[in-house]
Amino acid sequence: MAAQSTRSEVENYLNTLLNADGFEDYGPNGLQVEGRGEVRRIVSGVTASLALIDAAIAADADAIVVHHGLFWRGQDGRLVGWLGERVRRLMARGINLFAYHLPLDAHPEFGNNAQLGLRLGLTVDARFGEQALGFAGPSGQNTTLAALAARVQTALGGRAPLVLPGDGRALARIGWCTGGAQGYFEAAIAAGVDAFLTGEVSEPQAHLARETGVAFLACGHHATECFGAPALAAHVAERFGLEHRFIDIANPA
Ligand SMILES: [Zn+2]
Repeated sequence: MAAQSTRSEVENYLNTLLNADGFEDYGPNGLQVEGRGEVRRIVSGVTASLALIDAAIAADADAIVVHHGLFWRGQDGRLVGWLGERVRRLMARGINLFAYHLPLDAHPEFGNNAQLGLRLGLTVDARFGEQALGFAGPSGQNTTLAALAARVQTALGGRAPLVLPGDGRALARIGWCTGGAQGYFEAAIAAGVDAFLTGEVSEPQAHLARETGVAFLACGHHATECFGAPALAAHVAERFGLEHRFIDIANPA
């Protein structure tokens, strides 16, 4: 039988660990939906989708820890339609929803960027961009773009990245930022990297890669952000003696 902790203990621990109030973010970080007061079983996932909520209900979870929560700037605040259904299911089952967006990208140990870097064999010696969310470091053993792309594909479960080649230079330094950080490409170039990895790509990055010579790899938003939430939840579960399970809801985007 697993130990139990209180919702408040878990909440306070996570908020402090991640410096939850220290970021200019697109939504609230921390406890987004309040469930039962005791927590024994945690499910982690990338996004608080209906599929993840249903999987957490089936797993008899007391809390869900995600990177993408339910509430974002620009919503009108009504709990109707798909959003109402997600909230209704959580509240009906008393499941707590903890969501950490930028604080989870940024955390130097459990964050998405730190965890992706670990899997790519990259060390971090610099941070760049808005709120220092970009990570950078030496490329290590493989210095060609083809070798880096192969390393990414292996680390991300076989998913091949979309590669925008630069000028074919040897890759001495790599920059990366998980998720939808294509807008950080210019900051990465300014930080002196030879290749930049993120999840998504938009039209302007193809031209920037050609004109600056810095390669760009779009590795999948979901694929690059699969590692932070489970690393964080596993850590808090170990800290409080709770059960934890990561549930991956596949997403090609
Ligand atoms: Zn994201």
